[in-house]
Amino acid sequence: MFKATTLKNGLTVFLLSIFCAHFSIAQEIIKEDWKPEDTEFWDPERPKVTPGQGTEPPSDAIVLFDGSDLSAWKSQKDGSAAPWKVEDGYFTVEPGTGGIQTKENFGDFQLHIEWRSPQEVSGEGQGRGNSGIFLQGLYEVQVLDSYDNRTYYNGQAGSIYKQSPPLVNAMRPVDEWEVYDIIYTAPRFDEKNGALLEKAQVTVLHNGIVVQNATKIQGTTAYIGPPKIIYHGDGPIALQDHGNTVSFRNIWLRKLDQ
Ligand code: MG
Repeated sequence: MFKATTLKNGLTVFLLSIFCAHFSIAQEIIKEDWKPEDTEFWDPERPKVTPGQGTEPPSDAIVLFDGSDLSAWKSQKDGSAAPWKVEDGYFTVEPGTGGIQTKENFGDFQLHIEWRSPQEVSGEGQGRGNSGIFLQGLYEVQVLDSYDNRTYYNGQAGSIYKQSPPLVNAMRPVDEWEVYDIIYTAPRFDEKNGALLEKAQVTVLHNGIVVQNATKIQGTTAYIGPPKIIYHGDGPIALQDHGNTVSFRNIWLRKLDQ
């Protein structure tokens, strides 16, 4: 990108190459007498977003559930209307009806979702308050009543199921709502041959506490055996029916790939 003869040494070439690659600076401004304004950029202005109050959605969010109905969702079984029960501003898994997923597909995103374990504590391990949030329909962020309920640590709440345990257990008791904020970067594939170029990456905050910190996702979620790498495009947010009456509310998403 630059002629070494115009610069003093190889290290400078290296550092400037990194800097310029990152900030897309034209070669013309590469010089030895830098001024502060040489690295200050004004246009275009960043888009304005109005934050929500508390956990309300920001102004540019796609609201996936506002407490009233499941019109943004459909049955994973047959694409019909999502069969889960809506009441009092939240909805609850209807065991045996199968998972539900958003009608819309997404790439990179920020997802806010609140969930609550069944109010009657029963079962243990993976059988207590199990559900899950599948990113692009393929990669599960585990939902489980992990309050005073041991199981394998790469399967407890906040894990990337069977791949990456949460850094800590940030669970609240069952009568309180849990909050996940998930920042997801989809995997990148070579469109010519389908080869994986970059793994998916996810950061998860559980009740405001980081439990996954830029975790690389190894492949699709598998109950048995290792993850698989499969080629795919945009995909839905899917919620798991694991037979337990887990509830959800206040779900919104911001696209990050535009
Ligand atoms: Mg699950």
